[in-house]
Amino acid sequence: MSKKEKAEELKEKLFMKKENCWDIQSDEKDQIFDFAEGYKHALNIGKTERRFIAYSVEQLEKAGFQDISQFEKLNAGDKVYTTMHDKTLIAAIVGEEEPSKGFNMVGSHVDSPRLDLKPNPLMEEEELVYFKTHYYGGIKKYQWLSTALSLHGVIYLSDGKKVEINVGDDPQDPVFTITDLLPHLDKHLRSKKVSEFVNPEKMNLLIGSIPYPDTEVKDRFKLGILNLLNEQYGLTEIDFNRAEIEIVPAQMARDVGFDRSMIGAYGQDDRVCAYTSLEALINSKAGKRTIAILFADKEEIGSEGNTGAQSDIFLYQLNHLHEMILGREPKRREIEEFYMNTNLLSSDVSNVFDPNYAEVSDPLNSSYLSKGIGINKYTGAAGKSSTNDAHAEFVSYVLNIFAEHNIPYQISELGKVDWGGGGTIAKYFAKTGMNVIDSGVAMFAMHSCFEITSTFDVYNAYRAFIAFLNN
Ligand code: MN
Ligand code: MN
Repeated sequence: MSKKEKAEELKEKLFMKKENCWDIQSDEKDQIFDFAEGYKHALNIGKTERRFIAYSVEQLEKAGFQDISQFEKLNAGDKVYTTMHDKTLIAAIVGEEEPSKGFNMVGSHVDSPRLDLKPNPLMEEEELVYFKTHYYGGIKKYQWLSTALSLHGVIYLSDGKKVEINVGDDPQDPVFTITDLLPHLDKHLRSKKVSEFVNPEKMNLLIGSIPYPDTEVKDRFKLGILNLLNEQYGLTEIDFNRAEIEIVPAQMARDVGFDRSMIGAYGQDDRVCAYTSLEALINSKAGKRTIAILFADKEEIGSEGNTGAQSDIFLYQLNHLHEMILGREPKRREIEEFYMNTNLLSSDVSNVFDPNYAEVSDPLNSSYLSKGIGINKYTGAAGKSSTNDAHAEFVSYVLNIFAEHNIPYQISELGKVDWGGGGTIAKYFAKTGMNVIDSGVAMFAMHSCFEITSTFDVYNAYRAFIAFLNN
């Protein structure tokens, strides 16, 4: 063996490999592309947290899962789910072991950055009718101008009747938009910082321009629209006070690239992890440990509120599950052991290395497109503040599962040190004593109206969650 050959052999033995997964798993192409079809469908009908929860419940019921209220006691093999406020979900397959031995869980969030209607949204200005909006989560505001938008949500009428609004996704529907200024006349704005370029008070959604046909009455353009809404939904202006209506891109999920190797869609953060974990649970069988998935809301605004991961509502529901499996009230110690023995993959998206913005990432500690599930030992910002930093023993446990099942993974950080950062639901569940680590699909253009994932990585996340849950 020559000196060079020997060095090559040593390198092969000692160096870490980061191969492009289309090379190593090209034989799985059919499954990968089939899986993407179901995923795109779910993204298209589940563009808000409420719609995604409704979709998930439908899928779970089709697969034999039942609402927890249908059970008096839970036994090994039972498939159960529970939702809270139509925005969060826990679903589980009960295992043989007692709950104090812990569950294997995958947790993600089902809300995405968007625009919400203000509580008093309806406005007429210069013979045009608008909805006033308030953005939700970390958006780059300019991305929401001059694009087709749809409306989804609920309104409660004064008699208590719930009205669902879903307009703009069906190709036959009208859409809505926020107008941008023409480049011919935007000189006075060009020197502004991007963060100041769009005034959020001017992010008004254009919803109509035909007046009510009585030329004497004031505000007759607003009256024209409200009259239409009253005819169609029975609502009056005050009913918007009792509404939750979200504005999201009307664009549907699409394949991206000549080779269709990527998926472009709104709301993949974090429904890519929610969908893949839902499919992983549905396609799992009962085993020794209880396995579960958890969907949280409000992650994009800091996991606040009684549907966000900071809420004790998740713990109440997990304790309830514990009690239903035991058939009696668990002792305090059993509850503590349950949390300390539970393994949770906090599954959320990360950024991929983008050659167009290479300056924000450390190439050695980045996730790359189609190189497997991204693992973040920690997230946070400014010296690991505000994060769960998984201990080496748990990292090792998770990596061994992935290695054993031949699941490509990559460990990365969210950008260069001190360049920014972000958080997930991980630290809130770590507070309970659970073993938690962040993992998920890495993407381009996170929080935009058209986020990009690798078709391979989506399918690979599904395989990763199956392996983790059933370990
Ligand atoms: Mn997320
Ligand atoms: Mn996000």
